[in-house]
Amino acid sequence: MAFDYDYFVIGAGSGGVRSARIAAQHGARVAIAEERYFGGTCVNVGCVPKKLLAYASHFGEDFSDAAGFGWTVGETSHDWSRLIANKDAEIDRLNGIYQRLLEGAGVTIYEARAVLEGAHTIRVGDETVTADKILVATGGWPNLPDEPGVKEHAITSNEIFHLDKMPKRVVIAGGGYIAVEFASILNGLGADVCLLYRGELFLRGFDYDVRSTVAEEMAKHGVDLRFHTIISRVSKSHDCLIVELSDGSMVEVDAVLMAIGRTPNTAGLGLERAGVKLAENGAIIVDDDYRTSAENIYALGDVIDRVPLTPVAIAEGHALADTLFGGFDDRSVDYRNIATAVFCRPEIGTVGLNEDEARRKHVAVDIYRTSFRPMKHTLSGRDARSLMKLVVDRESQRVVGCHVVGDDAAEMVQSVAVAINCGATKRDFDRTIGIHPTSAEELVTMRQKAPEPDLEEAAE
Ligand code: FAD
Ligand code: NDP
Repeated sequence: MAFDYDYFVIGAGSGGVRSARIAAQHGARVAIAEERYFGGTCVNVGCVPKKLLAYASHFGEDFSDAAGFGWTVGETSHDWSRLIANKDAEIDRLNGIYQRLLEGAGVTIYEARAVLEGAHTIRVGDETVTADKILVATGGWPNLPDEPGVKEHAITSNEIFHLDKMPKRVVIAGGGYIAVEFASILNGLGADVCLLYRGELFLRGFDYDVRSTVAEEMAKHGVDLRFHTIISRVSKSHDCLIVELSDGSMVEVDAVLMAIGRTPNTAGLGLERAGVKLAENGAIIVDDDYRTSAENIYALGDVIDRVPLTPVAIAEGHALADTLFGGFDDRSVDYRNIATAVFCRPEIGTVGLNEDEARRKHVAVDIYRTSFRPMKHTLSGRDARSLMKLVVDRESQRVVGCHVVGDDAAEMVQSVAVAINCGATKRDFDRTIGIHPTSAEELVTMRQKAPEPDLEEAAE
């Protein structure tokens, strides 16, 4: 049977765009459907606008830090509407770039919702088309809990980027990337921020020293951190929202931001008609080659809920296109040592195993840790501390984890990830000459092992 296309991609986000473009460059006849915005979550309501807002949020403190360096900064004020308008203009520009990249590669674009009618048949807008192979790269969507008033009155990361006014008082629920990043962003822009997390300490999964350092530093910035606390109810008063918390207290705010995780976008896609099986949380189940339970249908990116990060979706999309249409037979994605950052203040950059994971995986580990006041703050007078930590497998002396909290942590850790992927040992770090004066030089000058923890005491 002759199909209309060799490859039909549903979703023009990070993973879908890359996969469609590369497949077309390999000579396949490719189409892509996008129902909302080119570039997907990352470009429109994720990484990019978030980072622009994070930059904006740093200036307030930079202005006050400047005094120690002799600057007199006059009265300052911030215009949220101008920030959002400038951000929107940049996102428009990026949307255009994504569209042109696809067109330039010869990909047919459908600006419509696509659903599966069968294993090879797709309904897209008013049309029905067929394809030999189909990729589902539909991403995810923010969760909202069932507590009374939350669905009516709370917002998610989708809405925060488009508010007309900056909320002056905010409750943020969640203790993952989005909650912590937005707590810092809104705090930096001058809002009163109360961050609620249901467990003992936020950022579960990150190294414990990182989590506790960030909690201390965010509290110094004035973020009201409340752990073991969730929202019980949200109600509207005349010009504000009243948030009732699980500890019985009430907070009056202008906005409630829910950042409690995301669900894969699989509802109503017709996947059952095509024989595509889902996990309990709605994620599409795939094998190592991103093949679903339907032989000709593939899925990747956030919709498979493996590692929901943009560079991972891009790597997966590229690898799949190379495998299906480029004649490559070994284009698997290496999921080990994926560096990641949380763009909170102070910033987190991390790669490899955290200390607890390393202790479980290796017979013995050596820990190198330093906490210090960055040079910049000797003159600014700010009470701020940075953390650097290396986790080393004692037997092989390989560095298996690197964790940084402080300015430019993400920029530092990206390069360390290369060294870790090459199997660098602590000796390799030690023989590397530092760049002086930087914070990063601490990563190659830490000589003193941290004392062994009393594991019995820790277990009690
Ligand atoms: P998406 O980018 O979500 O793309 C899916 C696309 O499919 C969307 O455009 C959607 O409209 C479209 N679609 C869905 N259903 C259909 C349909 N039926 N028909 C047609 N089109 C459809 N990651 C990082 O690495 N760094 C960061 O700093 C970072 N910051 C983030 C900040 C926020 C607030 C959020 C929410 C996420 C952030 N992420 C970050 C995660 C990152 O955005 C995602 O991992 C990435 O976008 C996933 O790409 P994807 O291609 O799987 O899905
Ligand atoms: P995360 O999965 O990172 O965090 C969700 C948080 O919400 C956790 O603290 C979780 O607690 C908590 N939570 C879950 N359910 C509930 C509930 N019912 N009530 C109260 N709290 C709850 O999700 P995010 O939404 O923050 O981000 C989604 C993903 O997007 C991230 O995992 C990341 O992959 C990606 N992202 C990446 C960024 C980056 O690279 N800088 C930035 C933003 C997003 P617990 O830990 O106890 O389960």
